[in-house]
Amino acid sequence: MIPSILPTYNRAPLSFVKGEGTWLIEADGRRFLDLGAGIAVNVLGHANPVLVQALTDQANALWHTSNLYHIPQQQALADTLVEHSFADSVFFCNSGTEACELAIKMTRKYWTEKVQPEKSEIIGFEGSFHGRSSAGIAAAGGEKLTAGFGPLLPGFRHLPWDDIDAVRDAITPETGAVIVEPVQGEGGIRPMADGHLQALREICDENDLLLILDEVQCGVGRTGKLFAHEWSGITPDIMMVAKGIGGGFPLGAVLATEKAACGMTAGTHGSTYGGNPLGCAVGNAVLRTVADPEFLSDVSRRAGHLRQRLEGLVAAHPEVFEEVRGAGLMLGLKCKALGADVLAAGYDNEVITVPAAENVLRILPPLNISEAEIDEAVVRLDKAARQIEAG
Ligand SMILES: *Cc1c(COP(=O)(O)O)cnc(C)c1O
Repeated sequence: MIPSILPTYNRAPLSFVKGEGTWLIEADGRRFLDLGAGIAVNVLGHANPVLVQALTDQANALWHTSNLYHIPQQQALADTLVEHSFADSVFFCNSGTEACELAIKMTRKYWTEKVQPEKSEIIGFEGSFHGRSSAGIAAAGGEKLTAGFGPLLPGFRHLPWDDIDAVRDAITPETGAVIVEPVQGEGGIRPMADGHLQALREICDENDLLLILDEVQCGVGRTGKLFAHEWSGITPDIMMVAKGIGGGFPLGAVLATEKAACGMTAGTHGSTYGGNPLGCAVGNAVLRTVADPEFLSDVSRRAGHLRQRLEGLVAAHPEVFEEVRGAGLMLGLKCKALGADVLAAGYDNEVITVPAAENVLRILPPLNISEAEIDEAVVRLDKAARQIEAG
């Protein structure tokens, strides 16, 4: 018999009743160190008092009105994002996959406005993840995402990950945009090679293409900059954001230049819940902390400490781990042992990581994790590795 929850997830045998900063607590009191943060979502930890205050204050005042009216919290968040990024304009939604929907619609509309609607093809990369909507799975293209869901939305082409020469060769008069995660998340924590994002920007400029960045996982402070592309010095035309920006409240956004957004006039797109007062009140509180340069340099400092400790862990357990990779507090432990076994051994030792492709365990802690918590997490991962070694 089908379970009452549609069985689309293989869930771990864990269930939490409370969160406190970097800790998740089960009903029997077992305390887990959370290196997953709800898949890069709880950027300021669980039950952060500042976010709880922002949410409850807003909940006591007003939950929902609709985008038929002005929403001051949404205006404030848009202004902050524009101030801190390349963007001239922002649309709010509730998730990453909704951000993907608009990024693709905006691209198509842009080329329609330019009277070149044939430029509807978007180039993406293997191993990508852009969400589970029909556009999201077509944009990412992996068999695991698309099998059984055809016919897929047309207009996507997929190239080997981070292969810049392949992009040059693939461009045709029908190409209109390139979509890429600066650091692939679900694909196994794979950062683009140094200089490749700059090279993609150049190719897009030379060939008059829009560059769409999916920063749903790598954005919002995760790499030690507010957005991951800032490390490269380039800017995109369109950027998808979600996960961390709500700190645990469902919130997504599409950021765009005036040029890229030129076709998105009244009536061309919308969302009932997108940019609602609750989500935007929390988003404003998240950005007040995360966009602070001091907070971001703390993220980089913590990331350096974590990476050093994880390198030590890998060196101590060469039969269990292969390498550490990633950027900032978006790290991957590539396993030599079966990743699922290491994940489960982590649970036995009360430390949570998140699986990804390529036998990688993702380490995506709250951005305000303490050094003491990092040390304790590595002690627990070390115990998990010993458990694997003991068979
Ligand atoms: C999680 C994720 C998405 C989809 O976000 P949802 O909120 O689950 O729809 C899209 N792109 C990337 C890079 C992601 O990590």
